[in-house]
Amino acid sequence: MNKPIVNQKHSENNRSRTLRTILTGRTHLVLLMGITLALIPLLSLLAAEGDNQHEVVVHLDNDHIQTFRGRLGRWVVPGGESYGSLAYRFGTTVEEIRAINDGTLDRSRYNFVPMSLDYYNQLVQEGYGRRMLRIDERNMLWPVERPHYTSRYGNRRGGMHLGVDLACSPNTVVLAAGDGVISHSAWYGGLGQAVAIQHDDGLVTWYGHNNQLLVKVGERVRRGQIIAFSGNTGRSTGPHVHFEVRYMNVALNPEDFLEQGLIQPNLVLQEESPLDPELGTNMGASALLGQDEQTPTP
Ligand SMILES: [Zn+2]
Repeated sequence: MNKPIVNQKHSENNRSRTLRTILTGRTHLVLLMGITLALIPLLSLLAAEGDNQHEVVVHLDNDHIQTFRGRLGRWVVPGGESYGSLAYRFGTTVEEIRAINDGTLDRSRYNFVPMSLDYYNQLVQEGYGRRMLRIDERNMLWPVERPHYTSRYGNRRGGMHLGVDLACSPNTVVLAAGDGVISHSAWYGGLGQAVAIQHDDGLVTWYGHNNQLLVKVGERVRRGQIIAFSGNTGRSTGPHVHFEVRYMNVALNPEDFLEQGLIQPNLVLQEESPLDPELGTNMGASALLGQDEQTPTP
């Protein structure tokens, strides 16, 4: 079929316009791409030189999104609400709630309610996502967000203060400072309701004066996982978390171990990427933790 001459001209015009565009407007883009490509080996070399092989991103459980035994959900006191209604609200089943709470449900106490992927994604989209912190995995995480000291480690009137006191309002989320196994979760003298975590490197961390303890002895926890709600129990003059770091039962200065990231806002990111719906509800919730399935130690 013969093409009309008009169209051929049009086509030639298009070609020359394309050429002009490449030579003018797109030249910058092409140059930029070239430079970027050339820089990639240099940048990766610089990254390798930096001491970032210990860098990890940690999700900090907050009031809305919490973790327990590898699942996403929230600690809830059901009160007058039925478990059926709770399950419906969080997109789970009564059986799942029962299972993760070791078969016992007590509506007057905190129960962990797993949440569906849809519910989680909705929370993140509404801006309730957790804060994410890029830290050196060898450091400890602050047990409460936005911490401020009311008392530091060392001598103080009446004797030695063996930890740091972090003021916070009652029922603030208390976070595990590092991965480890719960070695104590009960009343402990002046520390009131206290949790201790045995970490893999031999250090033990203590969290005192809580209102409610959420973990059991022998259970494995992850850094950034909620372990208690804070309070004012034991020998305490106001709501706070008493945090201790011990090695061979000797109390060390926690400030030597704490990651400074929480007080460096540039290291803090907001959780904002919804999970892949392809992963499915249960698998997705575990997958988000970015680690293998967590099974509680008996
Ligand atoms: Zn204290």
